[in-house]
Amino acid sequence: MKKITGVDILDDKIKERLTTRNIYEIFNNFIIPLISKEEQEFLEELEDFLIKEIEPRVNLNNEVYELFPILGKKNYIQRLNQFGDMERYGMRYEMLLAMATSIVDPELDLARVVSGVIFANPLFRHGKGDIIEKVLREVISGEKIGCICITERHHGSDAVNMQTTIKNENDHLLLDGEKVYTTNGSVADYFVVYGVSNRNNPRGTMYQLLVEREFEGIETNRLGIQSIPRVEVSQTLFNSVKVPRENIIGDEGIGYRNLFSGLVAERNAIIGSSLGIAWLTAITALIYTNFRTQFGKPLYDFQGVSFPITKLFTELMAATELGFKSATEYKKTLKYEDQKFVKYNAAFSSGTKFLAANLAHRISYETQQLCGGIAFTDNMRIDKSLEVAKVQEIIGGARNIQLYLVSKDIRDIVKNLTF
Ligand SMILES: Cc1cc2nc3c(=O)[nH]c(=O)nc-3n(C[C@H](O)[C@H](O)[C@H](O)COP(=O)(O)OP(=O)(O)OC[C@H]3O[C@@H](n4cnc5c(N)ncnc54)[C@H](O)[C@@H]3O)c2cc1C
Repeated sequence: MKKITGVDILDDKIKERLTTRNIYEIFNNFIIPLISKEEQEFLEELEDFLIKEIEPRVNLNNEVYELFPILGKKNYIQRLNQFGDMERYGMRYEMLLAMATSIVDPELDLARVVSGVIFANPLFRHGKGDIIEKVLREVISGEKIGCICITERHHGSDAVNMQTTIKNENDHLLLDGEKVYTTNGSVADYFVVYGVSNRNNPRGTMYQLLVEREFEGIETNRLGIQSIPRVEVSQTLFNSVKVPRENIIGDEGIGYRNLFSGLVAERNAIIGSSLGIAWLTAITALIYTNFRTQFGKPLYDFQGVSFPITKLFTELMAATELGFKSATEYKKTLKYEDQKFVKYNAAFSSGTKFLAANLAHRISYETQQLCGGIAFTDNMRIDKSLEVAKVQEIIGGARNIQLYLVSKDIRDIVKNLTF
């Protein structure tokens, strides 16, 4: 990778205050009142690990993937699902993991969420057999990388009407098609892929398959996504790939159900990453503007600086409460078969994802302007956050699609009124 880092021009006195340890200390002030004692212990241990083991190894000239095995050693590739002897897991723990990791390295967290949650969750929820066990072991250890293939060149938001085909050839399946924007795709060892046996009936014929890199007929080509240079996003081609039957995660028609139920977990994990980015940039701005002086005063003494920062903090506190609520609700979707509740939760996670991702982008943009030129350099993590926030707003479904899901749900409530 071409070297993209530059010289350090951050004032030494500010630099010694703008440490990750201090950012976590302020972050914890806001988060600890919202979480349990066990969650607090998990968070503090995680933050310590990230400061000692990950931060010194973050190199903006290298891709994020070399950090995966280090996260994996402590079971930090994901915390949504129970694995091995892990005791602390669930959506709230996953959200804490996403927030704390994003604070240290937002690009790393983006790639981690795709491999550890968006790829692995379908295997945890629907996979069976030795292959699934082996793949999960490899991915959760951080030694291998997973990705998800839904979006196609001509079918993005309208994902259901996908053109990728899967033919049942009795002893195996035959997969043909092109997927695009596959995060981690060009470095991935494993792919969760969706395709249909009848393009005219995608809901009834959608499959969900686990595809392995070594299968013949797979080609990945990196796309030029300039906002996240340390994460590989690809075009993924499947040219008559033979997939063994034991690699079916969702059989014909079940793939559709799995795709949509999986999106709730996906959105929740992204909420955690977005909130992490938002806290990182808001706290960075708070510390910086309290110590940077202009016209003989700290920037924060000017109300034109402190009021906008305060406004962003109040919005972020509200969004964080909502994020945790969404994570708590997620657990209920796993327990309750009540369709009404599942529908409510899908809309709730969409609305919260819309809000958190949009806010992360806005906070990063505003704090960059409020801190000034230094926030455009790699001496701070604000510019990096701004770029990752952009991606988080589209990944897992564009802004309008989240709003579309909420609007449909609230209209149904009106429709069901009795007159
Ligand atoms: C960096 C990056 C990483 C990604 N990672 C992955 C991945 O790992 N796996 C994967 O499968 N996909 C991935 N995606 C794809 C992402 O989910 C899609 O880009 C997204 O779903 C939108 O699809 P589209 O880009 O085709 O836009 P389109 O669907 O063409 O939408 C364009 C615009 O029109 C709006 N729009 C579309 N339909 C409607 C409607 N009915 N009402 C109102 N507005 C509408 C959209 O909101 C959007 O603003 C990634 C995308 C990016 C950019």
